[in-house]
Amino acid sequence: MNKLPDFSSPVPFLVLNIFLFLVIITRYFVVAGLFQLFFYNWFKANWAEKKLSSATVSKKQFYGELKWSLSSSLIFSIVSTITIIFWQQGYTKVYTNALDYGVVYLPVSLLVSMLIHETYYYFLHRWMHQPNVFKLVHKAHHASKTTSAWTAFSFHPIEGFLQAIVLPVTILVLPMHIYVLLVQLTIMTVSSVINHLEIEVYPTWFQNTFLGKWIIGASHHSLHHKQVKYNFGLYFTFWDKWIKTESPTFTAVSNKQKP
Ligand SMILES: [Zn+2]
Ligand SMILES: [Zn+2]
Repeated sequence: MNKLPDFSSPVPFLVLNIFLFLVIITRYFVVAGLFQLFFYNWFKANWAEKKLSSATVSKKQFYGELKWSLSSSLIFSIVSTITIIFWQQGYTKVYTNALDYGVVYLPVSLLVSMLIHETYYYFLHRWMHQPNVFKLVHKAHHASKTTSAWTAFSFHPIEGFLQAIVLPVTILVLPMHIYVLLVQLTIMTVSSVINHLEIEVYPTWFQNTFLGKWIIGASHHSLHHKQVKYNFGLYFTFWDKWIKTESPTFTAVSNKQKP
């Protein structure tokens, strides 16, 4: 760490920020692009039955999603740069020796961080659906009624910022190994793409298992974009189930899928 420049000074800050912006935008294009190509082009016929609607995404919507995703990537890169400065100055609980807290703690810290994220996001999402807040903060994301992989990071900058700060705040108090942090960032990216794909990637048998019922996939989040007042969760369905904001249509679909 000693060899690294002080990222709080202007030039290293800017260089790191540009580098992270390029990494984040490349990650978006690679992950969203591969999912879109795999499910809609390369193996289209295999997944036709799992498509959640017949509506297609207009070019206008696609370019709008790219524009918002570019601005989200910029917001994410600024928040990431500031987080790295915090880490460099010793304010975070991020650690690099996997044995510091024991091996068992590695998956436990991931689960705890995801539960914190889930809780924060569920209530943030409910707040963003207040009419006055919605117009300014969340309308951009809901411009996509029929979603695609490209919708995954299509957020207004305020929403992008509110989503980006949860993990940096979490690591101020929760010790997390650097690789566990990277695993969560990967899960965040992939699950957002899966949830917006408009094709259910999870097999029906999995959705009907105990675990499958608690995990959000495209059929859950697609209903949020179409019905708006239901299904506010991020990774897990438990808040929607407990606070009774899960779509009745989703339950009907799930029941139908039961053998
Ligand atoms: Zn929403
Ligand atoms: Zn969405």
